[in-house]
Amino acid sequence: MISLVTGGAGFIGSHLCEALLKAGHTVRVVDNLSTGRMENLQDFIDNKNLEVHKVDICDAKALSPCFENVDWVFHLAGLADIVPSIEEPVYYFNVNVQGTLNVLESSRKHNIKRLVYAASSSCYGIPDVYPTPETSAIQPQYPYALTKYLGEELVLHWANTYKLPAMSLRLFNIYGPRSRTSGAYGAVFGVFLAQKINGQPFTVVGDGTQSRDFTYVTDVADAFITAAKSNLVGDALNIGSGEHQSINRLLELLGGERTPLPKRPGEPMITFADTAKIEEKLGWKAKVSFEDGVGEMLKRIDAWKNAPVWNQDTIAEATSAWFKYLS
Ligand code: UDP
Repeated sequence: MISLVTGGAGFIGSHLCEALLKAGHTVRVVDNLSTGRMENLQDFIDNKNLEVHKVDICDAKALSPCFENVDWVFHLAGLADIVPSIEEPVYYFNVNVQGTLNVLESSRKHNIKRLVYAASSSCYGIPDVYPTPETSAIQPQYPYALTKYLGEELVLHWANTYKLPAMSLRLFNIYGPRSRTSGAYGAVFGVFLAQKINGQPFTVVGDGTQSRDFTYVTDVADAFITAAKSNLVGDALNIGSGEHQSINRLLELLGGERTPLPKRPGEPMITFADTAKIEEKLGWKAKVSFEDGVGEMLKRIDAWKNAPVWNQDTIAEATSAWFKYLS
């Protein structure tokens, strides 16, 4: 089996590559290494079944030959983060929408057997129902959420119209080793771990009672492979942990001082996936507990030693577009 992983040098992609190699696949990474890092592949870089192609999904011509003889395609390449998506919507559209179109067309041309797309739970915006099922209203709050959702629409349309054997997974707050240690102000785990290792207080939005469906990355890699093995086509499924944890609970596990941040517009109090559909259709369920997952992150906290340490002032500056456009 040959599996192609776009964004294979990224946080989630690298865990998926590792799991596929363990399952005996030949793994072809397609990554432009803009946010992906070769370091993420370090644990298995010597595996003879790993190929790395430094190719941009926006470059349709360079992309297509990578799909030769490929069985399964996992499309995880894309741009993340809220603030830069508000500042540079055209860039986000090109990568997350046009780039996805290129992946779909290359897949179609090469008659791949399976495609699984990494979509985002941010498509639900501020949900009306918890846990949130796939049938909830789609209400993206910023260009990142919109462009990831448009990518999903393309995937499902290609499944319906061209009978491409494709489906989509809507990921809820993924955390784990190899998550980003540099770049724009982003996901809470990286922000808090850098603050902790540098002896700075945790910047807590609001009163910390808001909660997230934190899902451990190896569970997510397992979900992608389970989805690829299934016959499900033209459908979108939630991937979540089955629970939701407050920021206060995370702080209890991390331990340390805190300092407040204002509440951010367009941000839900809770994210919590209804995972009944994936349990029923694929028999998949997350296995790693929050306590174990946070424990694994703490073991690797050294990775954040040189990461940017955010504080109230630098966060206020970094998120000014957020408050300006979403208030
Ligand atoms: N959060 C926080 N301090 C920070 C960054 C995030 O308290 O410096 C909180 C935020 O309010 C949210 C949770 O952590 O409830 C997850 O935030 P993240 O940006 O990682 O994900 P998202 O809000 O997109 O789900």
